[in-house]
Order: sequence, then structure tokens, then C-alpha cells
Amino acid sequence: MKLFILLVVVLLFVIWKKYQKRLGEQDSQDAASPARELLPCSVCGVHADKASLSLTTQGRYVCVQHREDRPH
Ligand SMILES: [Zn+2]
Repeated sequence: MKLFILLVVVLLFVIWKKYQKRLGEQDSQDAASPARELLPCSVCGVHADKASLSLTTQGRYVCVQHREDRPH
């Protein structure tokens, strides 16, 4: 029973650590690009970070799911 409690505590600690790390990563991303631009995908209209969008040959921005080089 003691081992079980120890296991639960370790598990909670690992989850908490992962959660803290994820929060830290989000903070650093925001700090690195404070003026990040959100643009709509010209196919589905979903807004996404400009850096994650792709520019088509027509000069329009599309999300990763609607890239021309990706088969549907
Ligand atoms: Zn799209």
C-alpha cells in the first residue's frame, strides 16, 4: 500500500512537471513573437499563425491541411 501511494505521488509530480513545462513553452513563444499575425486560411477560413500558414502560387495563405502539395 505504501508503494501504491508513492507511485501516485510520483505520477502526480510528473504530470505537474509536464504541465509547468507546457506553460513555460507557451510563455516563451509569446515573448519571442509578440506581434504574431493571425490570418485566415483561404480554403476553410480558420485563423492560424502566419508562420504556420503556407503561401500558394495564387498568393493566398492556406493552413497546413490545405497545402497544395499535400494530397487530400
Ligand atoms: Zn484550411
